[in-house]
Amino acid sequence: MPSSPHLSRHWFPELASARQRHFLASTQQGVFIDVKGKHLINFSSNDYLGLRTHPQVKAAAIESIEALGFGSGGSRLVCGDHPQMHQLEAELATWKGYESCLMLGSGVLANLGLMQAMSDRHTHVFSDKLNHASLVDGVRLSGAKSHRFNHLDMVMLAEQLEKNPAQKRIIVSDGVFSMDGDCADVERLLALAEQHQALLMIDDAHGTGCLGEHYKGLTANFSGHGSLLEVGTFGKAFGGYGAFILGTHEFIEGLRQRMRTMIYSTALPAAIPAAMLASLALIQTGRLQQTLHKNIQTFLQHSQGLPLIASQTAIQPLLIGSDSEALSMAHKLREEGFFVPAIRPPTVREGTARLRITLSAAHRDDDIKQLATVLKRLCR
Ligand SMILES: *Cc1c(COP(=O)(O)O)cnc(C)c1O
Repeated sequence: MPSSPHLSRHWFPELASARQRHFLASTQQGVFIDVKGKHLINFSSNDYLGLRTHPQVKAAAIESIEALGFGSGGSRLVCGDHPQMHQLEAELATWKGYESCLMLGSGVLANLGLMQAMSDRHTHVFSDKLNHASLVDGVRLSGAKSHRFNHLDMVMLAEQLEKNPAQKRIIVSDGVFSMDGDCADVERLLALAEQHQALLMIDDAHGTGCLGEHYKGLTANFSGHGSLLEVGTFGKAFGGYGAFILGTHEFIEGLRQRMRTMIYSTALPAAIPAAMLASLALIQTGRLQQTLHKNIQTFLQHSQGLPLIASQTAIQPLLIGSDSEALSMAHKLREEGFFVPAIRPPTVREGTARLRITLSAAHRDDDIKQLATVLKRLCR
């Protein structure tokens, strides 16, 4: 049959083999999830510290909603701004060691808007091939000349920089890579940026709050460096929603003037900065991170022999290979009471389907040991 524009498959041929949709209901206890009527232990969340359901975080949001209502009512530059947004920006900048900070809707909006604001067709952007989709799209939409280097390949990046001299050049990398759990070498990236007079942009969505000195993320030792820009999100360790960009005063001011995904988008509800101030205070105590790292060690100790991609982060991917086997493993794990999603192409490379296991401070010792035991049995 000829395809017709009235048919959904004319536009979405992938519907024929659509991914399975779960109807998920997150329960109040952070570490459980209800899937198709089953109560499962959740090993798929980015809520690494369990802050999503922390009483202080919830209380701060509720108090704000009682006082101010829910929606912000407008974009930040019109009437959606609130003093708590500025307080959170100031506290984040101080904690992370940057001059200034700009909060905005989400990590995707931050990356799309940032790349667009920074780039024109004379700009050259050098990206790690495994960067988050929002960075890939950001570069594409920005119209910049795009160069992609093999994952973590600093030699290839150096060659690309040498071959492409230009006034405006940006190196872009995830801090912790979200599907592999490995980390960028920020020190070497920054050295290359310096040497070639380029800017370095690190998206440390998964590192901030979990890794580095005082858990400030992978840039902890380099923050405030004039050639360094950083994106972070509230959707991961902070247990919330939204994102922020860190950099020099002048840089952030430039973005305020030009960043379309901030200027033309409704400001986040004030309850978000209120709750994220509570998350930040809890993150700064470092207590939850100690539990997270103890849990990571427990998992590593009990899962020796499993085909894990080596990682000291909360992201512990188990490499399976074939899509159907990864799906079958995920299904069997659900039968055993664990929710671990199968991640398949195009999210990851062909032939590298995996189970993306994520650990949280909210997991109990026994949850982790049981998962490792079941994984060993299923992998045999
Ligand atoms: C999650 C994530 C984003 C997107 O952030 P949202 O706030 O969820 O839109 C961007 N970059 C990286 C590396 C991420 O892991």
